Amino acid sequence: MRYFSTRGGQSGLTFTQAVMTGLAADGGLLLPERIPRVADRLAEWQHLDYTRLAEEIFALFADDIPREAMRPLIARAYASFDAEQPVPLVRHEGLYLLELFHGPTLAFKDVALQLLGNLFEWVLERQGGRLNLLAATSGDTGSAAIAGLRGRAGIKLFVMYPEGRTSRLQERQMTTVQDDNIFNLCVDGSFDDCQRLLKGIFGHQAFRERLQLGAVNSVNWARIMAQLVYYFSAWFQLRRRQPSATAFDVCVPTGNFGNVFAGYLARRMGLPIDRLLLATNENDILARFFNSGRYERGEVHASHSPAMDIQVASNFERYLYYLLGGNTQRVADFMRAFNEAGVGRVHYNTRQLDAAFRAASVSDADTLVAIREAYERHGRLLCPHTAVGRRVAERLQRDEVPLVCLATAHPAKFAETLALAVPGLRLTHPLLDPLSALPERKTRIQPQQDRIEAFIEEAVAA
Ligand SMILES: *Cc1c(COP(=O)(O)O)cnc(C)c1O
Repeated sequence: MRYFSTRGGQSGLTFTQAVMTGLAADGGLLLPERIPRVADRLAEWQHLDYTRLAEEIFALFADDIPREAMRPLIARAYASFDAEQPVPLVRHEGLYLLELFHGPTLAFKDVALQLLGNLFEWVLERQGGRLNLLAATSGDTGSAAIAGLRGRAGIKLFVMYPEGRTSRLQERQMTTVQDDNIFNLCVDGSFDDCQRLLKGIFGHQAFRERLQLGAVNSVNWARIMAQLVYYFSAWFQLRRRQPSATAFDVCVPTGNFGNVFAGYLARRMGLPIDRLLLATNENDILARFFNSGRYERGEVHASHSPAMDIQVASNFERYLYYLLGGNTQRVADFMRAFNEAGVGRVHYNTRQLDAAFRAASVSDADTLVAIREAYERHGRLLCPHTAVGRRVAERLQRDEVPLVCLATAHPAKFAETLALAVPGLRLTHPLLDPLSALPERKTRIQPQQDRIEAFIEEAVAA
């Protein structure tokens, strides 16, 4: 399989090149040249365990890594999960929850980042050299990337996060890691500022090449690939409970469009996902887009679901490529217009922009209501992001189609918000409680590209 840029400026990359590159040189995102069709293999895959299923799916996309080499990378990645089935499907009041939070940092991002660390290491062992990684995080990517990369030889990781916009606990998950290949940059700005800085630094070709800079954000194709697997796993687990099901809907709490994009691809591969229900908080640029065709940047508001406080969703560009008929010129034009004017438009003349999607947003107040109701009626605690999804699912669910809601983080990660919804609730977790006693390592920095580049340069030289 070869990979190309959504903006047309790069093509013919192998999988390992795509993984090591992250963002394409022309500022676009990398996509596989074709989407493999697997509808006729579902019966055969139905009974595979999670790691074997991952092996089959990765073999389609990562064909320059031999299966025998890939197998232990997968096994090690998911051995760090605390459940035998890394992504268990559980019943929850008329729908299913797919629990994606059994990894070491208790959010779904572990599913991809535990694997990505192993992939980087495998490639570096063969090619030699070093890799410097830059990430922007609204909370969960940072800690998951750190957990996947701490202590790895030849790799340095720089994590930018917006000061005061992550929870203290999320911050501590990052800053209490003492490995000297990890650098936490606490940026005086919003997550969109961090993401803009990330794009700016990646767009600075000379710097990027000199420092061998790679990406761990969901712009990295390997993250999307790793996330495909649990959509398939969800379907197979659902079929065991409901053998007569012929299709399902999936509700995805969305920020950067990474998770839901993997679902979109799984659908195009032939997994019988009927609808993808896209759920956003008040930062609703994506919900507005799917209801109007207008992609228009708004102000970023801090919400109870901080991992979704995003207005400019980096992975949206991958979807746009398909929506615009696979025309890289049109993608480049759209993104240029959007970057200049803060608005882009896709013309459509049906009521629904894309039959695969339904989208809605949820207010902060409603998020708390959803948490309270799930707890009072069903005794289940949902993280605020999952609660946003649960609320949208309630609105858009259909009687005749089974629905899976992605549970993206463990509720204990957002204990303060849960206590707002359920007064008196005190959540603890054995992985999180010890963090408040540990020393922290972080550097405050202004949201200026030259300052951040200078910091990286110095740390790499040291
Ligand atoms: C990152 C994150 C999201 C959003 O995922 P995207 O891939 O950016 O859409 C949702 N919930 C939680 C808990 C997250 O950490």
